[in-house]
Amino acid sequence: MNGFLKDGLARNFLAGTWVEGDGGATIAVEDPGSEEHLADCAQAGEETLNKALSAARASFDRGDLADMQPSARGRLMARVAVEIRDLAAEGAELLCRESGKTLEAAQDEFEEAAQYFEYYGGVADKIEGKSIPLGPDYADYTVYEPFGVSAQIVPWNFPVSIAARSLAPSIAAGNSTIIKSPELDPIGLAMLGLALERAEVPNGAVSILNGIGSDLGARLVASSEIDQIVFTGSVPTGQAILHAAAETVTPSLMELGGKSAAIVFEDANLDGFIASLQSGIFYNAGQVCSAMARVLVHRSIYDQVVERAAELSNGLSIDHGLKNPDHTPVISEQQLSRIEEITSMARQTGARVAAGGTRLDRRGYFMAPTILADVDPASRVAQEEIFGPVTCITPFDTEAEAIAIANGTEFGLVAGVFTRDLARAHRSARKLRAGQVFVNEWFAGGISTPFGGVGKSGFGREKGLEALYNYVRTKNIAISLKG
Ligand code: NAD
Repeated sequence: MNGFLKDGLARNFLAGTWVEGDGGATIAVEDPGSEEHLADCAQAGEETLNKALSAARASFDRGDLADMQPSARGRLMARVAVEIRDLAAEGAELLCRESGKTLEAAQDEFEEAAQYFEYYGGVADKIEGKSIPLGPDYADYTVYEPFGVSAQIVPWNFPVSIAARSLAPSIAAGNSTIIKSPELDPIGLAMLGLALERAEVPNGAVSILNGIGSDLGARLVASSEIDQIVFTGSVPTGQAILHAAAETVTPSLMELGGKSAAIVFEDANLDGFIASLQSGIFYNAGQVCSAMARVLVHRSIYDQVVERAAELSNGLSIDHGLKNPDHTPVISEQQLSRIEEITSMARQTGARVAAGGTRLDRRGYFMAPTILADVDPASRVAQEEIFGPVTCITPFDTEAEAIAIANGTEFGLVAGVFTRDLARAHRSARKLRAGQVFVNEWFAGGISTPFGGVGKSGFGREKGLEALYNYVRTKNIAISLKG
């Protein structure tokens, strides 16, 4: 494992070397499936951050990535993908233990990370500008230039794949990057550093630092040495970061939370919908920004859908992630308590618990897969992001009412429509206030489909070619030919 792990301590990847950080401070990492202490992680402080910032700037100024032949940058990224796959088995086990997710889901994260490097590596030499006609006396063209140093803050729910989702286009565009890993599960992500080291990404071009959000994260985003902020996480943290960005006028990309709704019309294929419900709200124990947090069902099939949803929830296998069950723990005691609190408050506003509703009496932070029925769309449980295995079902009578309820939160990340009526599917998709609409399959799409929110779900897009243009800025070059 080279320098990544030393004496059981996961270290910081600082500009191509592995370091312990400042003053011996560490972060304890727990296994949420067993509540056991898993490992310690070296914490980067101000000194380490300053070294990473200087190294990133120096690498950018030298043109380590930006001046590399674009096709060579693409080949370098393809090598990173190979190294990520090589580390996937080992990395997935660590990620599974520290995050609580299934081993399969952890393996998928490493695979997805590798795919991001292949995808964006493939377009590194296709970031083409335009020629603008100004008549015979001028030549005018645009070029896309990297920002410089990109500061990237990653959440704990998909630390490896989300980090790769932003890092890969950042490298493809020629930026230097500093990543702050999530404090709850930093170890799998630190292994990305190992892949970068083995692929011989230039020293300084990427650093991955471990630290607490309000300390290291806040310092990083407030630094005048960065040229861009890419944040994926909660709305309150995004707002705090935007305040910091306002001070330095730093361009920012915000990928925030959601409270996404699926609309199930009376002609929907119910078997297909129930399969989507399982992945939509129970994958990763519902800790997914684009989870199916609300389900709006046509009144004519409402009782049937609630019954089938409860049946699904009650039949899920539950275990430690290493055993690949259907349902896994949430990340922490704090998260579990919050989910339980919101769920129990829902009863006071008229919601009916059709399945689950409480934590499970076993070791680990397990919330029962929960279905709340008869949920008032205006109530707290229908408006706030829960970020756990809890969905809210509400009946509707007309298409217009369903769209209004779906659009009736401050979020707008994704939405879904389940119907066999093609015209209704298109019509609803256009009217839904969301960055992405799934028709007849929740989570349809992949690494090449643009993703991001409207409203408090944020702005800017990740994934796909579209995201690449978040990592460059346009320069126009206007040349007089008048002699
Ligand atoms: P969070 O906002 O608590 O933390 C996210 C990251 O920000 C962590 O690395 C944390 O250490 C850091 N951080 C905290 N305070 C900071 C500060 N003041 N300055 C800089 N960094 C700081 O979110 P979380 O609990 O880790 O993740 C869950 C949230 O992320 C949910 O709201 C979820 O919807 C959202 N999310 C969004 C997407 C998306 O693509 N839209 C993807 C995954 C998760």
